[in-house]
Amino acid sequence: MSTVSEYFGENVFNEAVMSTMLPKETFELVRLAIIRGKRLDSQTADIVANAMKDWAISKGATHYTHWFQPMTGITAEKHDSFISPAENGKIIMDFSGKELIHGEADASSFPSGGLRATFEARGYTAWDPTSFAFIKEHVLCIPTAFCSYSGEALDKKTPLLRSMEAINKQALRVLRLFGNQDVTSVKTTVGPEQEYFLIERDTYLARKDLLYTGRTLFGAMPPKGQELDDHYFGTIKSRVKAFMTEVDKELWKLGVFAKTEHNEAAPAQHELAPVFTTTNIAVDHNQITMELLQRIAKKHDLVCLLHEKPFDGVNGSGKHNNWSICTNTGVNLLEPGETPYENAQFLLFLCAVIKAVDEYQDLLRISVASAANDHRLGALEAPPAIVSMFLGDELSEILEAIENDTAYGGKQQELLKVGVHVLPKFPKDTTDRNRTAPFAFTGNKFEFRMLGSSDSVAEPNVVLNTAAAEALKQFADELEVAEDFETALHDLIKRTIRAHKRIIFNGNCYDEAWVEEAERRGLYNLVSTPDALVHLVDAKNIELYAAHKIFTETELNSRLEIMLENYCKILNIEALTMVDMAGKEILPAVSRYLHFLANTVLDISKAFRIDARSDFEGKTARELITLKEKAYSRLNKLKKVSLKASEIENTAERAKFYKESVIPVMKALRSSCDKMEALTAADYWPMPTYGDLLFGVR
Ligand code: ADP
Ligand code: MG
Repeated sequence: MSTVSEYFGENVFNEAVMSTMLPKETFELVRLAIIRGKRLDSQTADIVANAMKDWAISKGATHYTHWFQPMTGITAEKHDSFISPAENGKIIMDFSGKELIHGEADASSFPSGGLRATFEARGYTAWDPTSFAFIKEHVLCIPTAFCSYSGEALDKKTPLLRSMEAINKQALRVLRLFGNQDVTSVKTTVGPEQEYFLIERDTYLARKDLLYTGRTLFGAMPPKGQELDDHYFGTIKSRVKAFMTEVDKELWKLGVFAKTEHNEAAPAQHELAPVFTTTNIAVDHNQITMELLQRIAKKHDLVCLLHEKPFDGVNGSGKHNNWSICTNTGVNLLEPGETPYENAQFLLFLCAVIKAVDEYQDLLRISVASAANDHRLGALEAPPAIVSMFLGDELSEILEAIENDTAYGGKQQELLKVGVHVLPKFPKDTTDRNRTAPFAFTGNKFEFRMLGSSDSVAEPNVVLNTAAAEALKQFADELEVAEDFETALHDLIKRTIRAHKRIIFNGNCYDEAWVEEAERRGLYNLVSTPDALVHLVDAKNIELYAAHKIFTETELNSRLEIMLENYCKILNIEALTMVDMAGKEILPAVSRYLHFLANTVLDISKAFRIDARSDFEGKTARELITLKEKAYSRLNKLKKVSLKASEIENTAERAKFYKESVIPVMKALRSSCDKMEALTAADYWPMPTYGDLLFGVR
């Protein structure tokens, strides 16, 4: 058996492969394309394409695809074979530079949020050389961006690449001010921790709600949930272990640095974390990871649920987006340095993030908004919908000392002056790490914890990169013209802390009191997706994205439309699935059980000449009858309101109606059905229970 170091990245057309397969000059040109974004000429592209094809064929690939990330949230691919007809009815395996760089894709079946009405239906995919091509299931996958013919972004990668460029440009300006001449590029880095559930495939297939919506819409709590905390970091069952081993191996072959796997808080819940990498690649890798988790689970007769809230009453699944800013010389700009000067630079970048998060709280909230994630945020298992920052006591005290020109913590007698004093080292894993905070500083990076488990990590990082780029731009504008750099710097940092410290909160974010406190501080509390989404096109947000050339106003409006539509569609499917299950499975099952109970009451009464109506059978039946009546009327109500919802034309209004008028009826119907489940004999219940789902994997 080969060792990990032998097969790591074996299915990736990475720099090592390219250096052996490409002529030296071509390889250099590709490197320039990767580092500087320089375009390849058609001759070079032909050489690269040819080498890529030879390599792919040698690995058993027969097809290639432009692999892209449309607004559906999952990846898309259309396979073309390398086959080209040759003379005498033979074939040759062919792949040109043009086919590598540029692909045509019919955009009409992907969400475009109205862009299609104004522009052409055709879209095109464009090779992103910064993310390596790879082989998956005998197909050469070429990571690409997906745009309309007039250049509007129709995907998640295009804005991400634009935002990487924006932060690169502004961060370099700031670094130059600190006398940094050797750095030629700045990139953000991301390590996404991925949570998921694993359940038995046959229990999954027996539940329409899981099949159609990815989550359970009914289900009474089993006697045991997660209260014993015995699953968290517990021993991993051997079947799950076998699954994880295969996931790791397949990810490693694709160059994904899967690093840690463990059980999570809820029963059947697990987590996978990779080693961080450049944001653009981390986004691609996370998409691959989600895809592989699902595919490999099937091979083990399991199903991997990536839904944010598959089960009521136990924790849902999220994703932690660990984010930092790194130079090409290997310096993490969010790592406190050794010298006063490095520290000053760290503080300035820190301030840029503080300002960015405060000014664009709404965009961060929107970047994780979905019908599914609404079940988690603010539900005391995930951060609340209010965006705030945790910095820890030590760093907060330092900022306070700078803001007020006071001595720091008694440890230093003189006033703390930026650029003059060395900061104390921050322990990376301080014990006071606050798990309730949505956005936490963890020593040398920030951890954004509001993401849902199925979210693409692209969107939050577009916001982070762009908002930080804007803050750095304003800083550079001011400092570049300053007469005395150090004084201006100290002043700027002080001012920034004063203006944006309201976003810093080190306390318990699950506390009711925080909601009131946040309101006093003027922070947003965008509880649900419809509340949040409409802010996407607030004037300040349109300006931000236009200034950094991330989105035009038209693109933003189209995205808003797509997200609202998506929210409505999901709720519509959920409502219809509930109607279907309650009407065709649950109520008929309860009727059958009632029939049995009624007959039993009659039999007993007759056989023993007693009135059996007040015993178990009679009383249970009576309770069930009351519940069944209620459930039936709620079922009819749900039919009515969901029909009404689908007739509302304006998408924002429709989304609001789903939230305000459909969701409460769904909850009510579920509640009466769950109560009936608790009273119905196990062999009459028509679907696997929570107990089967959560504790079924052996
Ligand atoms: P946790 O306690 O939340 O599991 P870890 O220290 O294990 O935190 O790190 C979680 C993730 O953070 C990992 O994916 C790791 O690679 C990533 N990470 C570490 N340093 C950085 C960085 N500089 N930039 C981005 N991500 C990072
Ligand atoms: Mg974490």
